[in-house]
Amino acid sequence: TASVALFTADLRVHDNPVLRAAADGASRVVPLFVVDSGIRAAGFVAPNRAAFLADCLADLDEELRKRGGRLVVRRGDVVAETRRVAAETDAGTVHLAAGVSGYAARRERRLRAALAEDRRELRVHDASLTTLPAGALVPAGRDHYAVFTPYLRRWLAAEPRAVRGAPRVIEVPEVRSERLPSAADLGGGGERSPGLPAGGEGAARRRMRAWERDGLDGYADRHDDLAGDATSRLSPYLHFGCLSPTELRRRAERHGGAGAEAFVRQLAWRDFHHQVLAARPDAAWADYRPRHDRWRRAPDAVEAWRAGRTGFPLVDAAMRQLRAEGWMHNRARLLVASFLTKSLYQDWRIGARHFLALLVDGDLANNQLNWQWVAGTGTDTRPNRVLNPLTQARRFDPRGDYVRRWVPELAAVAGPAVHRPWRLDGVDYPAPIVDLDAAADRFRRARHG
Ligand code: FAD
Repeated sequence: TASVALFTADLRVHDNPVLRAAADGASRVVPLFVVDSGIRAAGFVAPNRAAFLADCLADLDEELRKRGGRLVVRRGDVVAETRRVAAETDAGTVHLAAGVSGYAARRERRLRAALAEDRRELRVHDASLTTLPAGALVPAGRDHYAVFTPYLRRWLAAEPRAVRGAPRVIEVPEVRSERLPSAADLGGGGERSPGLPAGGEGAARRRMRAWERDGLDGYADRHDDLAGDATSRLSPYLHFGCLSPTELRRRAERHGGAGAEAFVRQLAWRDFHHQVLAARPDAAWADYRPRHDRWRRAPDAVEAWRAGRTGFPLVDAAMRQLRAEGWMHNRARLLVASFLTKSLYQDWRIGARHFLALLVDGDLANNQLNWQWVAGTGTDTRPNRVLNPLTQARRFDPRGDYVRRWVPELAAVAGPAVHRPWRLDGVDYPAPIVDLDAAADRFRRARHG
């Protein structure tokens, strides 16, 4: 007998419920990845993620080969190709991880129907992409949690599933495969960030172990220090499933201490946003909680924001880090998103789209719902707070080192003076594009009528 393990955002062999179930249930397994024309059509492809994904697939193939198998690659409509591969190998069952987007839900429905016509079965595995299945925790009378703190309490009390190792042997039946896709094959023909990390499970596990050794204990104290760069940078590996979030959580809990506790809490945010999107797939682009005030149109301001030339060095440093690395520190993401939506009064979707075009960890659930959280259309219980770039600079880049790293025009300015270039003589820097106090007033008036 054969079964198909259809990989989506779970590009790993360790603690992969889909691969495990396929290997346990049949003597031969088809580890399948379909370069899905639908995802490209949906506009979710970006050069940075395509490059990272190409690494992930090459690494997955290598891990499977170590176990006697290989990755089978096809190209086209994911449902049609999976159905064809199942027929060619006479696989009785196709295994798939439960997704949370509208796209994933449609894919699952179509696949189930197509396989049923051939008398084959689709089995969907929960807690593969998140630690707890979306929908596992619900408050009384609702289908999902809209507030993080009570969700966190339940999440911490719920026992995650047991972690399982990689299957030792994988035997793949005779079946046609295309060559491993390059970044260009995956739609990543455009320009990519020079400072991208390497993708794949091997790189992910090395980074995870280095993080546990060198970073985790200091995380509670240091995670907001922009220049210190003391977060795990595991987000792209979690986005592509090179690491199991359940394994990561359990390892951190075993490690223990205040750093690990704070880190585990961040993993809960990830599950939280995923359960919101699973319940409300439209929240990917529609306001989760409608805002009654209107966005403004200011294309020049948006362009300055995208280019990192707003005149506020901390905002600019962050936007340039995004372009250079395909990644941005969480503190900086909060600030630039608040600045765009609350100081410049621009629609959060403009910012979310720009992030998705560049972020190597660009993730529909995390990106869209964090943007909504900041914009005041989402799950923030204090939707009227506005982050001020100068206050944020004092707290999170007190010496100005983060700005000097990313804004070369200001590299020669010493100390925190770098945050206020308009006070400096002989420094050529764009003037601030907005008056922060006036903007804060405008925001307050609009919100409170
Ligand atoms: P760490 O601090 O080491 O945290 C560990 C892991 O916890 C992260 O890898 C991530 O998986 C998870 N995590 C941490 N914070 C959050 C959060 N607020 N929401 C959800 N999960 C979290 N994260 C993405 O993975 N993809 C995105 O597209 C994305 N877009 C964002 C957009 C905005 C406007 C904001 C404010 C945040 C966004 N985040 C996104 C969340 C967060 O900024 C990143 O996960 C984090 O910066 C990644 O760096 P790290 O791996 O070093 O994080």
